[in-house]
Amino acid sequence: MKIIEPHIHMIARTTQDYERMARMHCVACCEPAFWAGYDRTSPQAFYDYFTHLTDFEPKRAAQYLIAHYAWICINPKEAEDVAFSKEVISFIPEFLAKDNVLGVGEIGLNKNTANELKTFELQVDLALRMRQLIWIHSPHLNDKKKGVRMMLDALAARGDVDPGRVCFDHMEEHVIKEVLDAGYWASMTIYPQTKNSPSRVVDTIEIYGKERIMVDASGDWGPSDPATLHDAVFEMRRRGHADRDVQDVFYNNPCRFLGQCPKFKFKPEE
Ligand SMILES: [Zn+2]
Repeated sequence: MKIIEPHIHMIARTTQDYERMARMHCVACCEPAFWAGYDRTSPQAFYDYFTHLTDFEPKRAAQYLIAHYAWICINPKEAEDVAFSKEVISFIPEFLAKDNVLGVGEIGLNKNTANELKTFELQVDLALRMRQLIWIHSPHLNDKKKGVRMMLDALAARGDVDPGRVCFDHMEEHVIKEVLDAGYWASMTIYPQTKNSPSRVVDTIEIYGKERIMVDASGDWGPSDPATLHDAVFEMRRRGHADRDVQDVFYNNPCRFLGQCPKFKFKPEE
């Protein structure tokens, strides 16, 4: 069964992970712009990072027959300085035009501050003006419910957001309902030690259904493993879900959401 990895930070992973993903029939992966493990000291450092995501990383993935896509933005962990954010935002349009870039992301909140929200709103505005899809990072642990509420309110207040073109990532049981009810897409991130596990993710799918739901692994700088996505595929099959439903969650749904960007070349298999 082919799968798509909707959220992974390959810059933090070794080539061996591409090898493993290829062996597990991952045909495409999406890399949202995020924190580097340290705060960048200048906007130019973001320029170089965006160049890595749009030039070097697609070539590395292609060696394993994996299509690499990217999302570009200033991430929530570095969004507190609004003047700094504006400098980064000024050259984001140049990267949105690149062949492998699907939209603006992963924007969002980290500590739910007013400045982070301001940077979030500036980037939502940029995305809508440039007709881009949006990928949203929701805060971790205790800040999640409040942060998701703040972003839903900010998006609703604009009055011009099509929720079908926006995905909230790192969703868990206690926040996913209001995101889905408002018409947005939701993705759940699996972590090997903390937060969502493969079985929790499948529990959530059994409660809320598979419509507008995606699952991703947490490939980043912390304890994480791209293979957890495949553990979730196995868990869903083990519980007796039809292959067709498994394929919907792990392949067709990413095709449906990401395929709203004409640069995404994979199509749902009906
Ligand atoms: Zn991320």
